Amino acid sequence: MKKIIIFNWKMNPDSLKEAKQLFNFVSKQIKNEEIVVCPPFVYLSRLASFINKNSKIKLGAQNLFFESQGAYTGEISPKMLKNLGVEYVIIGHSERRRYLKETDEMINKKVLAAAKTGLKTVLCVGEEKHRLGIKNRKLEIKKAKKIIKNQLGKDLKGIHNSLSKIYDFLIVAYEPVWAIGSDNFCHPADAREIIKFIKNILNSKFKTQSQKVLYGGSVDSKNIGSFIKYPEINGVLVGGASLEKNEIKKIIKIAN
Ligand code: PEP
Repeated sequence: MKKIIIFNWKMNPDSLKEAKQLFNFVSKQIKNEEIVVCPPFVYLSRLASFINKNSKIKLGAQNLFFESQGAYTGEISPKMLKNLGVEYVIIGHSERRRYLKETDEMINKKVLAAAKTGLKTVLCVGEEKHRLGIKNRKLEIKKAKKIIKNQLGKDLKGIHNSLSKIYDFLIVAYEPVWAIGSDNFCHPADAREIIKFIKNILNSKFKTQSQKVLYGGSVDSKNIGSFIKYPEINGVLVGGASLEKNEIKKIIKIAN
């Protein structure tokens, strides 16, 4: 099965010129993979102009607002993104939960808004605390599962099959917060265990076996293979490494 690779550029790069170069570079590497680039909002419309029917690269946003229009200074609506040709949106990233104080209630409204607009949602969930090592591994995984179950319950409230073909619109990214931007990636077997757990929750909620779940947290060209070798892990969300050409090239090659 084709793996999904989401490149989250976060608040990078500094100029449109660099963004265009990087976007074109990614575009040229793609053969058959599902590659989604999520640049900052300010570059989306220019990068969208490089996409045509034959392009394999997809565009994603890093956030959206849950209202459809009106007096919401500084916010971007789901429809604005859709009308630009954006197909994906990341919702509930831990950096937004942490720095922008996004709550599960806000995230739930965003997921609903994205679903109604037909944007593919990459919903990020994950525990904050670092697993404490082999001795407490089982206990820490148990705690992580409890946190994730709670997040999914709140973030997906009111989401049901009739909103959109759920398996098409919803992707969950398991992103342990302690692993993001840290070089301290999750043990792939642990990620697999938690992703299986997430899939069980989604399967029983949506009565489908097709839900896609990705891993994210310090993925690079050296470790990506150990995650995507598992059939349960449908792909990866890559932050830091998605800004380095060498890494991009290797990651896409390995994903293929
Ligand atoms: C992310 O942005 O979601 C992420 C996983 O970042 P990094 O790959 O840098 O850990």
